[in-house]
Amino acid sequence: MTKTAIIIGGSLGGLFAANLLRMTGWDVNVYERTGDDLVARGAGIVIHDDMFNVMRRIGLVVDETYGIEVRRRYVLDKSGDITDELDAIRIMSAWARIYQPLKDHFPPDQYHFNKSLEQIEQDAEGVTAIFADGSRCRADLLIGADGIRSTMRSLIFPDVPLKYAGYIAWRGMVEEADFPPQLHAQMFGHHLYGVPEGDFITIYPVPGKNNEVRAGHRRANWVWHHPVDSGTLRDLSTDATGKYHNYGIPPQLIRPDAVAKMRTLAHGVYAPQIAQLIDITRQPFFQAIFDLESPRVYSGRVALLGDAAFVARPHLAMGTTKAALDASFLCDALLAEPGDLARALARYDEPVRKFGTRLVARGRWLGAHLEAQITKPRAQRTEHELHHMPHDMLLREFSARLEDIPELAELLPPHGKSD
Ligand SMILES: Cc1cc2nc3c(=O)[nH]c(=O)nc-3n(C[C@H](O)[C@H](O)[C@H](O)COP(=O)(O)OP(=O)(O)OC[C@H]3O[C@@H](n4cnc5c(N)ncnc54)[C@H](O)[C@@H]3O)c2cc1C
Repeated sequence: MTKTAIIIGGSLGGLFAANLLRMTGWDVNVYERTGDDLVARGAGIVIHDDMFNVMRRIGLVVDETYGIEVRRRYVLDKSGDITDELDAIRIMSAWARIYQPLKDHFPPDQYHFNKSLEQIEQDAEGVTAIFADGSRCRADLLIGADGIRSTMRSLIFPDVPLKYAGYIAWRGMVEEADFPPQLHAQMFGHHLYGVPEGDFITIYPVPGKNNEVRAGHRRANWVWHHPVDSGTLRDLSTDATGKYHNYGIPPQLIRPDAVAKMRTLAHGVYAPQIAQLIDITRQPFFQAIFDLESPRVYSGRVALLGDAAFVARPHLAMGTTKAALDASFLCDALLAEPGDLARALARYDEPVRKFGTRLVARGRWLGAHLEAQITKPRAQRTEHELHHMPHDMLLREFSARLEDIPELAELLPPHGKSD
């Protein structure tokens, strides 16, 4: 008899799992809380080959339209000069560019918008998802791919804390067409870093509107990690009407005075071209940075994946790749134990928990200097926390390839290994 699965969360993690399970004969339905097509989500992302391998496993053809290849990284000092550089080929893409083909590959009548999970019930025969509109669905397996603030995780592991790392990521994108010619010539198309003590920014090109990768139609994406204590975070997350947004303030509600202060600070710490890029960004926004580790990634007939299970800091640029690999591990475990869901989920748990734990530890190591700015008086900081790591090391270690991180590479299944 056909096995049935319900997936909560229709973002990248949910869609990777949905397509993989469907491919192996499962009857899958996806339930997504938001009401609109998610394709408008506009974040740039660094891609690892391992994620493309999972897309190929699903049957998608990955070609050069998936992103923009950058071949070299540079550190810029405060005066705008290059101090260090390194050859490192990476594909820079956009969240929507990965989402669209995964969504198009899945039957639209089995993807349901406006469905917010609230409760679950499970017994020996199956598991039931109960939604905010009162509707219920039953299946053999329930997958929580509902992100960093996962309802599913809070239902099965209510005490797992989201640990604030002590810094936020200001982010923004600028249309290539909006670049003044001189600024375009100076910086567009390169992978740049600015690393003054206590701050960290990375800038790279990503596909533009409608996932365009043609010259003139791309965007520059920047991510600035900046230490902020919890009182300041609360203030930044409070809109002009005085309303506090605990789960992240929508970009359009961030107060103009907070944005102006951030821009002024950029001029104080970064190269002139970086500060100018931030000045011409129309709607900067920020996300607080957290660590999250689940004690297990399953309970009964429920499995967690992606950010719902583990969240590592963005310095690895691996969140979407991890979501893809988790889905792939789940598919492997279900294939290996076709008649026994309990054994399959126990089998799924081991690599995903190890991978997640090691990823979180590496994210903490990469972000230790930023974190210490808020959490430790200078006199108590270790050598590693006192300064950024040497620039040549920093260029190598941030967003390194999975295959170059031995403690992660050894956990990859054979099909997950990079080409
Ligand atoms: C500053 C920053 C930079 C980053 N840069 C990169 C990068 O360069 N490369 C990279 O790979 N990753 C990056 N990431 C990480 C990446 O964004 C996440 O790891 C990835 O989006 C996780 O995917 P997911 O599907 O697990 O969760 P999400 O993308 O968060 O999706 C969860 C989905 O579940 C839905 N949902 C939530 N609750 C419910 C509910 N109760 N019922 C139904 N649906 C629900 C949500 O609406 C959402 O669509 C970055 C993250 C940050 C913060």
